[in-house]
Amino acid sequence: MVVRDGELPYLRRCVELAAEALESGDEPFGSVLVAGDGTVLAEDHNRVASGDRTRHPEFEPARWSAARMTPAERAAATVYTSGEHCPMCAAAHAWVGLGRIVYVASSEQLASWLTEPGVPAPPVRTLPVAEIAPGVAVAGPVPRLAEEVKELHLRFHRGRG
Ligand SMILES: [Zn+2]
Repeated sequence: MVVRDGELPYLRRCVELAAEALESGDEPFGSVLVAGDGTVLAEDHNRVASGDRTRHPEFEPARWSAARMTPAERAAATVYTSGEHCPMCAAAHAWVGLGRIVYVASSEQLASWLTEPGVPAPPVRTLPVAEIAPGVAVAGPVPRLAEEVKELHLRFHRGRG
């Protein structure tokens, strides 16, 4: 599945949100929930610096949509994100019946970048969304934006080291 040109503004917004997360001392991830008609419904960035490491920006849209959208509206919606959903977020996305996922950088890319500064392995295995939620349509990565996301992650981990 391809990423359409008309979707790039949503993905650029995800990268902006990731940069905002970095500015506030958090891991650089950002996500936008978009309705089937293109309306931006919700957006957020990573908030794990609070100490709650489940506060991923791909998890919040799942819960937000479950509380506020019909099953048909959820199925027609897309979650854009700077980094591919982790297994927790992919599962939440699938459980609430959201539609497509479009990401800038894949989990595989992220894992490979983070070997550079010697970052410890995450407590949850890095798996592609398709392994967790085979019924969810997924598009990405987007090479022209992935370099920006890589730079944000390297800045975050250099800053901590
Ligand atoms: Zn996650």
